[in-house]
Amino acid sequence: LTFTDEFQEINDCSESQKSAIDEIAKGFEINTEKLKEIIESFRNEMNKGLASHGQTVPMVPSYVTGIPTGKETGTFLALDLGGTNLRVCQVNLEGHGNVTLKQQKYKISEPLKNGEARQLFDYIADCVDKFLVEFNIGSSTGEKLDLGFTFSFPVDQTAIDKGNLVSWTKGYTASGAVGKDIVYLLQDSLNRKGVPVKVNALVNDTVGTLLAHAYKYPNTLLGVIFGTGTNGAYFDKISNIKKLRSFSSKADHMIINMEWGAFDNERRVLPLNMFDNKVDRKSNNPRKQAFEKLISGMYLGEITRNVLLNLIDRTLLFNGYSSKDLNNQYFFETEYMSNIESDDTSTLEKTKRILEESLNLPSTTLTDRQIVKRICQMVGLRAARLSSAALSAVISHCNAIESGCNVGIDGSLFVYYPFFKERIKSALREFFGPSADKIELEVAPDGSGVGAALAAMLSS
Ligand code: BGC
Ligand code: MG
Repeated sequence: LTFTDEFQEINDCSESQKSAIDEIAKGFEINTEKLKEIIESFRNEMNKGLASHGQTVPMVPSYVTGIPTGKETGTFLALDLGGTNLRVCQVNLEGHGNVTLKQQKYKISEPLKNGEARQLFDYIADCVDKFLVEFNIGSSTGEKLDLGFTFSFPVDQTAIDKGNLVSWTKGYTASGAVGKDIVYLLQDSLNRKGVPVKVNALVNDTVGTLLAHAYKYPNTLLGVIFGTGTNGAYFDKISNIKKLRSFSSKADHMIINMEWGAFDNERRVLPLNMFDNKVDRKSNNPRKQAFEKLISGMYLGEITRNVLLNLIDRTLLFNGYSSKDLNNQYFFETEYMSNIESDDTSTLEKTKRILEESLNLPSTTLTDRQIVKRICQMVGLRAARLSSAALSAVISHCNAIESGCNVGIDGSLFVYYPFFKERIKSALREFFGPSADKIELEVAPDGSGVGAALAAMLSS
């Protein structure tokens, strides 16, 4: 696949289809000027969050002050809870930036996500227990094993091993956790089940990703997730974190978990259109995570689905027919968009299969499929451009453009979505000019696991 952001001609497109598509396209466009306005506002919000508590972009201090040197060694347990899966890992830090790990994934069912928190944490403790048995891991000294917990939701952190859940995101709603200390909840489940593990660090996945990437590349400034949700963490000077008045430490830097998914919940600068508003209104968390809902994998397919339904209702697509599947909330998966955007067959055969076989729509025309592809492009392109705005804001805040920096990124969107990285790069160039090429965007695989182990080590 070669990268181009030119839209392809739609064959046999009627006047009414054309004008509907043009009008929808306007609602998804972010021109350079708008991009700059968003970046500016993003920088302001960062400063507000650093200055005081309770701001929209909360800029959560992680209490991780050490920067890994790559020389750290030791074996630690790590737990990663964030989206679809739970991962339990044993991470072996070998020094010289090298890491080996054993891991096992466990599915988190919908009832667990949306039931009672106690059941969710008991299940997690059971998974840790199973993992220890399966890999025959025990402590030789009789002391508890150290574990770093990557927990990918907004937490109000008060120490490296303490933090209260602020709110669930990404479709989780388990009751009895909001406002509680997550480490306490997990430790309590582990103790009740007699699992010999001590949770000694709690980190966000972006913090983990940043630590893991910095272990390999010392010039790393940012750790980012573009996946089911989105967020970023970066190193800031402790003197810049005005709200941390009473914190004293020998260190000069601390990692900040920005929780940028909440950016512009007030809806001042983001160009929200009617499809975005509908996705938000029908979500588990209306009026929250405004930025995340335009960018992350949980929502892109849903935005696209709403556009398609609108065109269907106006008899401008699929001859006015939908299907049971397409009528279902969240049934148009972001993964379909990846496959449609990478469909380079002249008759869009992959797209045809998705529409007619996965979604059970009646037989489609080439025009239908080209329209669907065009909508996916609009939604995917906007997501990448907004993603670049967040990166640009942090890089300018840290004055890191002249020296250049590394950004470690994980998440399904960044790893699998076609052109996501190229689109981000091209928007970074619009803002920084040629200096944008000094920004290295790289995948940080297993960031959350390795990062949690590093945090456990830094804490122990
Ligand atoms: C959460 C963040 C997390 C991000 C990526 C967001 O929904 O609020 O804590 O880092 O998803 O997983
Ligand atoms: Mg994750």
